Amino acid sequence: MECLFCNIAIGAIPSYRVYEDEHAMAFLDINPTSPGHTLVIPKKHSMNVFDVDEESLAHLMNAVKKVSCAIVKGLDIGGVNVIHNAGETAGQVIFHTHIHIVPRYADDGLKHWPGTSYESEEEARMIAQKISARIDAHGE
Ligand code: AMP
Ligand code: ZN
Repeated sequence: MECLFCNIAIGAIPSYRVYEDEHAMAFLDINPTSPGHTLVIPKKHSMNVFDVDEESLAHLMNAVKKVSCAIVKGLDIGGVNVIHNAGETAGQVIFHTHIHIVPRYADDGLKHWPGTSYESEEEARMIAQKISARIDAHGE
């Protein structure tokens, strides 16, 4: 099996495991953005939000909630950023679905990406229309 995170899921490659259930597991990111940076994965292989099945995704997000709550309690911090990089353009490097939970510490210096604004109401309406026209019942 070539997928790194599939191998981590079955324990063939070691990881600092923090949570596991039948469908999902969580382990420390090897290059943490901040201490406690955790990745949560479905055990069943998919690439990202575009192809993950609904059941795996539901289990995954329940695990994300459990682990996020444990991170803020265990590390005694106020918040986390929950991030999913989907696709190479978005910076995805490992093509097994994973959610990053990045612990946020006071004065950690991390910055959100900047906001911009639409040039006109028409532009915003057109963009919303392009997206809403392609919504599928199963999100595909
Ligand atoms: P992404 O850019 O969303 O695909 O992020 C992939 C993440 O996987 C990066 O933050 C890496 O630091 C992390 N990573 C890569 N290899 C390992 C590994 N063996 N164990 C834990 N995390 C890893
Ligand atoms: Zn995989």
